[in-house]
Amino acid sequence: MTVSGSVAIIGAGLAGLGLAQALLKAGLSGEHLQVFEAHSVGAGASGLPAALMHLTPGRSLFPKPGYAPCFAFSQAWLEALQSDSAEPLAAPLLLLRPALDGAVASRFERSYARLEPGLPAQISRLSAAQAAVYRPLFALPELTATYAVQPAWRVAMPALIQRLSQTIQQAGVVMHLERVRCLLPPSTLASRQGWQVQTQSGLHSFERVVLAVAADLPLWFPELPLQRMRGEVAVFQHPQFEGLNTALSSGGYVLPLGGQRVLAGPTFYPAEQPCQSPEWSVQQIRQGLAAIVPAMAEAELEQLWSGVRTLVKHQREPLVGAVPGFHQLYVFSAFATKGLLQIPWLAQALAELLLQDRDRIPDYFKAGRFPLESWRLACP
Ligand SMILES: Cc1cc2nc3c(=O)[nH]c(=O)nc-3n(C[C@H](O)[C@H](O)[C@H](O)COP(=O)(O)OP(=O)(O)OC[C@H]3O[C@@H](n4cnc5c(N)ncnc54)[C@H](O)[C@@H]3O)c2cc1C
Repeated sequence: MTVSGSVAIIGAGLAGLGLAQALLKAGLSGEHLQVFEAHSVGAGASGLPAALMHLTPGRSLFPKPGYAPCFAFSQAWLEALQSDSAEPLAAPLLLLRPALDGAVASRFERSYARLEPGLPAQISRLSAAQAAVYRPLFALPELTATYAVQPAWRVAMPALIQRLSQTIQQAGVVMHLERVRCLLPPSTLASRQGWQVQTQSGLHSFERVVLAVAADLPLWFPELPLQRMRGEVAVFQHPQFEGLNTALSSGGYVLPLGGQRVLAGPTFYPAEQPCQSPEWSVQQIRQGLAAIVPAMAEAELEQLWSGVRTLVKHQREPLVGAVPGFHQLYVFSAFATKGLLQIPWLAQALAELLLQDRDRIPDYFKAGRFPLESWRLACP
């Protein structure tokens, strides 16, 4: 099916590029789609060296509403991209979730008891003998349980972003490397050309516009209850990490990257605060994990990366779909630290909404769960 009508996506991170790919797949011709990016493709939160995708992000083992279909979709999406690419993009691995204290242990136990059959990943409690296999690299607690989630996915973010960017440019999508300064709604125009996207080079007309601007979203909608949290992750090397194919998440995470390298982190503090020194960030990451991954104490630092995630306060679920009060304006942002889990499935759902007027976006992810007055549009 070929669908016409022009669409502008603002922001070329995982959200913007994932949506562009979904729109093309759903039948939009590349000549009807344009992407605007203020810096370079993947320059924002999507530029982290690697990322983890799994079914149980958060404080319990019980997948939140919508996470199971999102995970199943992301998994198939990553597998399809990988099967079509010579470069390593994504690989499955085992994820350990140790309960480090009594409170976490009882939370995990309660949520484990509520798990239903048919989940797209297996969640199991390790026996003492099974846990012993992962020692001494991981100093798993002996008095509380450790759970295993399988599969989880390691994703090479720069390679994934590159791949998506190539795919959409090969389809003829124009990528403007310039910042969008303002959006002018159709009603404010003398001409009846739809939305006007204003950049340094002039005005561009589109029937529909999608904001996938992540950390800049509060500048466009200052009344939304958003929080910008900065975080650092670091790549470390240590001979003990050689051959490791198991990730661990216990507040912070350790994600094996192959050879003797792991990605570890993250830190978490308000983006409005001054940026912490690299020494502080590295120390935080080491300290946060040293009790459970002793090798972290002397692992050699290779790279430190810093980025900002945008969260909806208290809910921490993304904002997806039509912006209340504006015809043909959409938002696809605030994915916090769950971009890989949520973006692929929700990109497909948003593409269906834009092109087929079919709305499958669950209410708890919808932009429209916030009232009209939260959506006062400003120019950043
Ligand atoms: C420390 C840290 C660790 C993380 N770990 C994980 C993880 O393990 N797993 C996981 O799934 N996720 C993780 N995330 C989150 C993940 O990075 C995000 O969910 C995802 O990358 C968000 O993609 P995005 O496209 O919404 O944002 P971004 O990648 O930030 O893209 C937004 C883009 O919009 C552009 N833009 C903004 N304003 C304008 C404008 N006016 N005009 C044009 N362009 C504009 C920006 O330049 C940027 O490129 C982590 C994030 C951080 C910070």
